[in-house]
Amino acid sequence: MNNCYPFVNTPLPYGYAALEPYIDEKTMKLHHDRHLQTYIDNLNTLMEENPVLKQYTLEELLMNWCRMPQRIGIPVRNNAGGVYNHRFFFEGMGIRRKDFCDYEIIREIEKKFFSMQAFMELFKKTALGVFGSGYAWLVWEQKGLRIMTTANQNTPNLAVQCPLLNLDVWEHAYYLKHYNVRAAYIDDWFQTIDWRRVEIRYQSIRTAGEM
Ligand code: MN
Repeated sequence: MNNCYPFVNTPLPYGYAALEPYIDEKTMKLHHDRHLQTYIDNLNTLMEENPVLKQYTLEELLMNWCRMPQRIGIPVRNNAGGVYNHRFFFEGMGIRRKDFCDYEIIREIEKKFFSMQAFMELFKKTALGVFGSGYAWLVWEQKGLRIMTTANQNTPNLAVQCPLLNLDVWEHAYYLKHYNVRAAYIDDWFQTIDWRRVEIRYQSIRTAGEM
């Protein structure tokens, strides 16, 4: 994984059309090749202008922006966040989406939210509640699951919250296919979740004994 300077736009782990008919090819191409690329370019430029930043990994930038002078810290949060959030979002989708029955994360979700159906309803409601642009997240925090949101390109607090799944609800993520209907986009996105990836993330948190 490319997670330090110089950042490059690693290819999607599937084709642009792989998530059809739920997420359309044109949206995926623009989203990955243009939107994510812009955050990568801006982050590299920022690091060239402030070489002290080059010592940090992507995650370290996101855990330390608040200790930097504001004129650097804010653009670090926005652009490193844009890279992290988009990579995490794209990697959380895929073509293996139908096999999820045996995963521990599914049992953990059922334990916390009573059923997958109830989890999806709450996640959807939460994602619909993001005013303007941002993300909905499932994170592991203090030994439990939590659904939360972040505004703009903000990330969860990576020092205490381990992301398991995120949903980009910026309009550029769905406007070409779903127009302004975020609810329809969320319903379609549920069909694209790569639960195997979510399980891998969950297992790595548990194995590391983190939080
Ligand atoms: Mn986006």
